[in-house]
Amino acid sequence: MLVPRLLREARTTPQCEGSWRVSEGVQVPTRPSLLLVNVGGYIEAVLDRNLAENISRVLYPNDNFFEGKELRLKQEYFVVAATLQDIIRRFKSSKFGCRDPVRTCFESFPDKVAIQLNDTHPALAIPELMRILVDVEKVDWDKAWEITKNTCAYTNHTVLPEALERWPVSMFEKLLPRHLEIIYAINQRHLDHVASLFPGDVDRLRRMSVIEEGDCKRINMAHLCVIGSHAVNGVARIHSEIVKQSVFKDFYELEPEKFQNKTNGITPRRWLLLCNPGLADTIVEKIGEGFLTDLSQLRKLLPFASDEVFIRDVAKAKQENKLKFSAFLEKEYGVRINPSSMFDVHVKRIHEYKRQLLNCLHIITLYNRIKKDPAKAFVPRTVMIGGKAAPGYHMAKMIIKLVTSIGDVVNNDPIVGDRLKVIFLENYRVSLAEKVIPAADLSQQISTAGTEASGTGNMKFMLNGALTIGTMDGANVEMAEEAGAENLFIFGLQVEDIKALDQKGYHAQEYYDRLPELRQAVDQISSGFFSPKEPDCFKDVVNMLMNHDRFKVFADYEAYVACQAQVDQLYQNPKEWTKKVIKNIACSGKFSSDRTITEYARDIWGVEPCDLQIPPPNLPKD
Ligand SMILES: *Cc1c(COP(=O)(O)O)cnc(C)c1O
Repeated sequence: MLVPRLLREARTTPQCEGSWRVSEGVQVPTRPSLLLVNVGGYIEAVLDRNLAENISRVLYPNDNFFEGKELRLKQEYFVVAATLQDIIRRFKSSKFGCRDPVRTCFESFPDKVAIQLNDTHPALAIPELMRILVDVEKVDWDKAWEITKNTCAYTNHTVLPEALERWPVSMFEKLLPRHLEIIYAINQRHLDHVASLFPGDVDRLRRMSVIEEGDCKRINMAHLCVIGSHAVNGVARIHSEIVKQSVFKDFYELEPEKFQNKTNGITPRRWLLLCNPGLADTIVEKIGEGFLTDLSQLRKLLPFASDEVFIRDVAKAKQENKLKFSAFLEKEYGVRINPSSMFDVHVKRIHEYKRQLLNCLHIITLYNRIKKDPAKAFVPRTVMIGGKAAPGYHMAKMIIKLVTSIGDVVNNDPIVGDRLKVIFLENYRVSLAEKVIPAADLSQQISTAGTEASGTGNMKFMLNGALTIGTMDGANVEMAEEAGAENLFIFGLQVEDIKALDQKGYHAQEYYDRLPELRQAVDQISSGFFSPKEPDCFKDVVNMLMNHDRFKVFADYEAYVACQAQVDQLYQNPKEWTKKVIKNIACSGKFSSDRTITEYARDIWGVEPCDLQIPPPNLPKD
């Protein structure tokens, strides 16, 4: 009885600054709830366990944003400490732990153990492993550091500065004082080394330090990861280049051989076989089942890109998925959509850098064009936008509000009819992704160039027969390389253009003044056209777009709208559309997570594949 009650209390603790935070101090009920004598400390043991479980009670919901909360640091240390104890225990009980009667030999530890730091969240593994080796196992410092570096490798996932973990030193003083000492010692040796290579270069020492000085002294966890790892990688080629040229420029100069790329991938079992059996069967009929464990075999489909029967079968599989998803929306949400319209899908976490607002401006532009010339033929579209906003991210919530507000106007305008619908997909999650992605015609991947590390949604859509409209960002670049840029809808400023624009100065006003359709759309948002009951509702959004838009939405508006017109154009020719779909599917093999993991194993972990001996099923005897 106590457990559910404590759970309930933890979850209903008063909220502050954002509706999701749970206080660490769960109140223990003061009134005796059981008419039992307290024998052998049983109750205390149960209560203590509940207090300990508070550490893992809540998952911080931010996307690409660092929030330096104490509970989060406790969580990170908890998971690291438990993992390392398990690793050490396993190593010691293996034959490689070559124990003499008192001391374990850690010589072979890096050959037998690989710790892949998936972002900086488990960075404490570095000082924790040093602590175990030096303090507990009495390994000398230099040997321990060698072992730690050869064991750990670090994957970077973002270059957005607000996402990088920089913990206040004061929090470490309170929670992890020994780890702080170890980090200082690591940093001292690191800076001594840099100083010996670059004598007198004091600014370089400041830039490369793990400790950031200032009114709040902080620990830069990414710097700790780079120093404590033998390999550092980004998650798409363009991102790995940006990592070398910007965030870790000084570190790349110091140790260029450390830096690698491992382009992300997705599993074809979940993201094709399981979620899209119709398309999977259509492919199996042509090329067999080999592609499911070797996705590069999808290239065997290329010769069928002009095969009339195959084009018809692929289009049919898509149409069936669209009908099924339409029925799902109607049943679960009571919204009716036109299943023969183009399904234009933009699903991912809501974030300014992902530019859902650019999509909004396009929707409004289409709406205004229909209203201006209602008799003209328009390619019917159902625009679906979905994704979660972090509870404390006000602008992300306003973006959702804008999408639904635009929908309220557009969807109820009789002049528009079913030529344009705007649907916000609530509660976007893997199970919904598995339904909507197989039904999509168009995949929106429109982040500002240089901001999306890789993306994996882009790959899911490609494999499921949607065409991509996207910028030259993240893995989109490699998708265009694999399929041929002519088989995607690529638009907008590239990383170099963005840099040049930053040099010159980005002024949203210039685009607003020059582009009448953009101006009309922005004016409608700011005047309350989409929020008649609350005309000022979107003034923060428009103020951001006009005066401090870090992601330069207006700079790509013209190219985006023009590119969307090309999308419409091609969609009117179903055979040519499906031809491109087939070419995309056939060229999506690179984006299997099997390929990604094989590369990590070969280039970072130094492990070779072995045949998996699958035990025979344990069938009941009768
Ligand atoms: C794949 C996936 C993502 C990542 O999508 P991106 O477009 O790469 O940001 C996010 N959420 C869910 C539920 C997903 O399935």
